[in-house]
Amino acid sequence: MNAAKLPQAPAGQSFRRLRLILGDQLNARHSWLRDASEQADTLYVLMEIRSETDYVWHHAQKVLGIFAAMRGFACALAQAGFVVHYISLGAAENRQSFAANLSALMQRHQITELAWQQPDEWRVAQHLREFAATCGVQHQIVDSEHFLADQAQISTQFAQKIPRMEFFYRAMRRQYQILLDAAGQPLGGQWNFDADNRQRWPGNPPAPSWPQPQHDLRALWDEIVAAGVTTLGEPQAAAFNWPLSRREAQAWLQHFIVHALPHFGAYQDAMSRASPTLFHAGLSFALNLKLLHPMEVIQAALAAYQQGAVSLATVEGFVRQILGWREFVRGVYWARMPEYRQLNVLSHQRDLPAWYWTGQTNMACLQHAISQSLSLSYAHHIQRLMVTGNFALLAGIDPDQVDAWYLGIYIDAFEWVELPNTRGMSQYADGGLLGSKPYAGSASYISKMSDYCKGCAYQPKLRHGEMACPLNSLYWHFHHRHADRLARNPRLAMTYRSWGKLSTAEQAATLAQAEIYLAKLDAL
Ligand SMILES: Cc1cc2nc3c(=O)[nH]c(=O)nc-3n(C[C@H](O)[C@H](O)[C@H](O)COP(=O)(O)OP(=O)(O)OC[C@H]3O[C@@H](n4cnc5c(N)ncnc54)[C@H](O)[C@@H]3O)c2cc1C
Ligand code: SF4
Repeated sequence: MNAAKLPQAPAGQSFRRLRLILGDQLNARHSWLRDASEQADTLYVLMEIRSETDYVWHHAQKVLGIFAAMRGFACALAQAGFVVHYISLGAAENRQSFAANLSALMQRHQITELAWQQPDEWRVAQHLREFAATCGVQHQIVDSEHFLADQAQISTQFAQKIPRMEFFYRAMRRQYQILLDAAGQPLGGQWNFDADNRQRWPGNPPAPSWPQPQHDLRALWDEIVAAGVTTLGEPQAAAFNWPLSRREAQAWLQHFIVHALPHFGAYQDAMSRASPTLFHAGLSFALNLKLLHPMEVIQAALAAYQQGAVSLATVEGFVRQILGWREFVRGVYWARMPEYRQLNVLSHQRDLPAWYWTGQTNMACLQHAISQSLSLSYAHHIQRLMVTGNFALLAGIDPDQVDAWYLGIYIDAFEWVELPNTRGMSQYADGGLLGSKPYAGSASYISKMSDYCKGCAYQPKLRHGEMACPLNSLYWHFHHRHADRLARNPRLAMTYRSWGKLSTAEQAATLAQAEIYLAKLDAL
């Protein structure tokens, strides 16, 4: 959608109320938007601003996708009869921050009431709260009507003690009566079918490709470049493939349910050079922008189970991601911000290797996961956790730099979900608030779950020596250097027992190898 065609409010017109809609609040079913009649005194505002494009170095597809979806949403609202004012990135009136733009609009349109939906990011919530305190008009913050756990309730509960995700998830299943029998017990007699869901993918069944909505976003990309926004990765502007509207997101969901969900559970933890997406949904962008509601995604999966199209283990594994993990990390975020983003209990300080930004490393697993992320702005969970995250953890990379990388590179990355996943789950920088042990793995994990090691420049079975897989020595170095904190963790007892069984000479050679690699991370 060309900037010239975006909806604009008549300059001299007064409105009683201004309602701000943020770029990740494209929820067409929000109660604000049920009926345009009797809303002639309400001005809806959306804006593209540099404070949002520049707070981190974003992937080109992320900036393009969010702006394109916002533009489509604004036009649909205007067509439905709402009064909408859209400030494009290069608009002459654009002062490039929420506060400055709101202030100007409120003056221009004699606004006496300001409202917004609860932002998902602490940074934005803070900025708007500070603005509201000084703007001199009444303000109201309403629910975004998207999440399944009540924010105030979960923040209070998690501020005292963060439960293990598994117990939180069981409570959510009970609250929403999902996959329970008449007695309120879990279907199949167990809450968690993880043990059935950890298979390597042998290449069969074939992994389906994702839907390919084709959007020509070259004009928007030209605007972004002309404004001087710097991005990373490939824009793919001529044939942009992510869903940008609710209708496209619904079609994407149905495609997933039919073609990928039946095998989602079994190959949830698998990785392969042959498929960057395997049986994953690719729904996080649409969900995080609120084009889809999490309950409609869950209901679609449950319907497939009820029709006999997917197994209980699969549907349970999928529901757990959305009803469990997604809601749980949000609870951790809101209960523990802003302190959470400073946590670094392992005191990791090394710089992120330069090849995280290019994919140019000899380690095949990292090369594949990073190159894919640069071209698609997507990697699936196990690539994020056990390849890129795992290496950063073992090598002791500064979590601030790891966070900035994850927050920038993925199209679905918004701080409320990125930060707990990265700093907590992946980097253990929160000391175990989110997970009961670090997700650390050596080459044996990668070679068991993927085909990356075949043809890699390094040898997955070697702990030391010139061609030894770096993950092996770094894995032991990590556990050795953090033994004070980790050795008493019962979930790591076997790991430390295995280390203790190695001869002193073998241990010394392994640690020496890790030191060699740590001294030349950029060259690996
Ligand atoms: C280091 C790291 C960083 C991450 N950063 C983000 C991020 O910025 N944004 C984001 O949405 N997810 C993030 N995740 C979680 C997860 O990797 C992505 O949600 C998932 O890969 C998105 O792809 P998909 O839709 O194909 O997911 P699928 O594997 O098909 O899962 C279905 C849905 O479940 C939800 N989900 C699954 N796992 C998680 C999780 N751990 N936390 C929250 N929701 C989950 C997502 O909404 C996802 O769309 C991160 C995970 C790690 C380990
Ligand atoms: S050998 Fe090591 S670096 Fe190479 S793909 Fe396997 S795990 Fe990755």
